Amino acid sequence: MDKCIFCKIIRGEIPASIVYKNEEIIAFRDIHPVAPTHLLILPAKHIASVNDVLPEDELLMGRLFTLAKKLAGQEGILESGYRLIVNTGTHAGQVVFHLHMHLMGGRRMRHPIG
Ligand code: AMP
Repeated sequence: MDKCIFCKIIRGEIPASIVYKNEEIIAFRDIHPVAPTHLLILPAKHIASVNDVLPEDELLMGRLFTLAKKLAGQEGILESGYRLIVNTGTHAGQVVFHLHMHLMGGRRMRHPIG
């Protein structure tokens, strides 16, 4: 995906504060953090949104959660708690159409529902 900003980060064409990278997943710090820890965790494979996830992606999707837990530990927020968000589509406020999981923590957050 030539124009996708997250694909560019994965290819090393634009800088990012990368905290984890292997051949299938990358995690880096959000450029506009809303919490002391605010990471983005995403597949290297360009999947635009949850709407585009295929059955063959299920293991990869699961690995996003496993990595989220590991990174929460590294950030020291495993016990205090953290929030994982995957915005999907316009009404949810998805801005970058390369599926990504927000990992946010380090402060108490208001409950998003109700
Ligand atoms: P979303 O609204 O779920 O699509 O979130 C996209 C997120 O990507 C926002 O929180 C942005 O601050 C973040 N973002 C956009 N460009 C970059 C970048 N170059 N490096 C790090 N984070 C970015």
